Amino acid sequence: MSHDFDATRLSLLLNDLRLPAVKQIWPAFAERADKEGWPAARLIMALAEHEIAERDRRRIERHLKEARLLPGKTLETFDFDAVPMISKAQVSALCAGDGWLRNGANLIMVGTPGGGKSHLSSAIGLSLLDKGWKVLFTRTSDLVQRLQVARRELALEAAINRLNRFDLLILDDFAYVTKDQAETSVLFELISARYECRSLLLTANQPFGDWNKVFPDPAMTLAAVDRLVHHSTIFEMNVESYRRRTAMQRKQQGPGRPARYATPNNVGMPATPENES
Ligand code: ADP
Ligand code: MG
Repeated sequence: MSHDFDATRLSLLLNDLRLPAVKQIWPAFAERADKEGWPAARLIMALAEHEIAERDRRRIERHLKEARLLPGKTLETFDFDAVPMISKAQVSALCAGDGWLRNGANLIMVGTPGGGKSHLSSAIGLSLLDKGWKVLFTRTSDLVQRLQVARRELALEAAINRLNRFDLLILDDFAYVTKDQAETSVLFELISARYECRSLLLTANQPFGDWNKVFPDPAMTLAAVDRLVHHSTIFEMNVESYRRRTAMQRKQQGPGRPARYATPNNVGMPATPENES
């Protein structure tokens, strides 16, 4: 390919303009344009579109790193037959994001351990992230610890504000935090700060009635639950542990058979002591 101009200088200019994708692709596009006789406007358009597409890809890659989602937990690997009370259509609608994340509404998943709450919440997070929303997945106890450290350093407000850049904060195992292991009023401050402006997705093994273990006093529990459920979708996922069920299925089918279970005939069974989280 011959160019009657200074290609090195063009590279430097594209660096200055912060157009790394154009810098990388232009020789190939230019060669093709020359060969196929593209009008100049088409070449410019192709280069601009390429830069934008690469920018989007890099942004999503960056967001994915930040989001700390659970690896391998996607909607494709989630078996909706195992939670018949949840409609795939409703989950797909939530995955668009616009209807609830713009208003700071919440999604709350409550149910027995092993029922797929962490999996589904991370999968929804991934789907939202693909659409350009910013998401953070965290165990609630880890976040509480971080916020407590911030409070000791008199930087709680700043820490909560930093979380504002996330359109959705997924607090996994919400009711697992207990007031004796942590001073959880930081959670209350987080909930209040996000109320009606930034969304939360909570997962919890315990129903709302047991959340008084989470907050320092009943008044705070009431106020927190009130804010959380005010604009919220609630998924009750009281199903038998998926792990337990697939293990039982494997046992029934014998070794060497596919692990996939057949018909869910014990959905809705009450939790058993063997159900571990
Ligand atoms: P929970 O958070 O409700 O305790 P998890 O999401 O951790 O449950 O699920 C336990 C395990 O079972 C995980 O490995 C998860 O991927 C798997 N699992 C649970 N429900 C489903 C499902 N409906 N389809 C596919 N895998 C599931
Ligand atoms: Mg879980």
